Amino acid sequence: MKIILLGPPGAGKGTIAKALMQHDESVQISTGDILRGAVAAGTELGKQAEAAMTAGDLVTDELIMGIMEERLQQDDCQQGYLLDGFPRTIPQAEALKALLSKLDERLDCVLELDIPRDIIIDRLTTRRTCTNCGEIYNVKFKPPRAEGICDVCGNEIVQRDDETEEAIENRLQVYNEQTAPLVEFYRNEGLLVSVPTSDLEPVMDALKSRI
Ligand code: ADP
Ligand code: ZN
Repeated sequence: MKIILLGPPGAGKGTIAKALMQHDESVQISTGDILRGAVAAGTELGKQAEAAMTAGDLVTDELIMGIMEERLQQDDCQQGYLLDGFPRTIPQAEALKALLSKLDERLDCVLELDIPRDIIIDRLTTRRTCTNCGEIYNVKFKPPRAEGICDVCGNEIVQRDDETEEAIENRLQVYNEQTAPLVEFYRNEGLLVSVPTSDLEPVMDALKSRI
């Protein structure tokens, strides 16, 4: 399956992507993870992305399209992919459309996780992330077994520096201004499947007719 996951930060896109991956061979492609990896590794890409990311702003469409054009043509994408955090702007969506048509590929659907704002803020301020493997925890709902330590790989888990209250406010505003218009875009393309939850069962039910 080839699916775009759409929804504000904290909607649960990453969690749903990991759950859906258990169902077939699809790979999760998270532009946020790719960029955080580049920042951690200190690559040229990381240097270009770091300031915007820390502020909770978007990195440029050019930078993202450069990454995705290469990524979507790698071998592991043949079985399908779950795009998590991309596209984020109308120009990215237009560029993706052109790229897929060039590659003669088609999306199955765009899954929108339409989660209320108060839930989003609560989730983001309590979220913690492993600095090594990216596993996500929540101090209220999904604490690690040992405080501050990743269950999966044993490295340190921290609050991301774009998860301060100020940066979160900004990320939500950026989402509303730049990313929310994609809902209409994909509705017009006939691809939109919208669910008011990120619980796996209702999401699977909503997807059944599409994948
Ligand atoms: P979130 O949890 O807010 O969905 P991500 O992990 O997807 O965050 O992304 C983290 C940051 O990486 C974003 O705030 C933004 O700076 C940058 N980023 C990720 N994907 C994109 C994209 N498609 N376009 C522009 N910037 C992006
Ligand atoms: Zn880890």
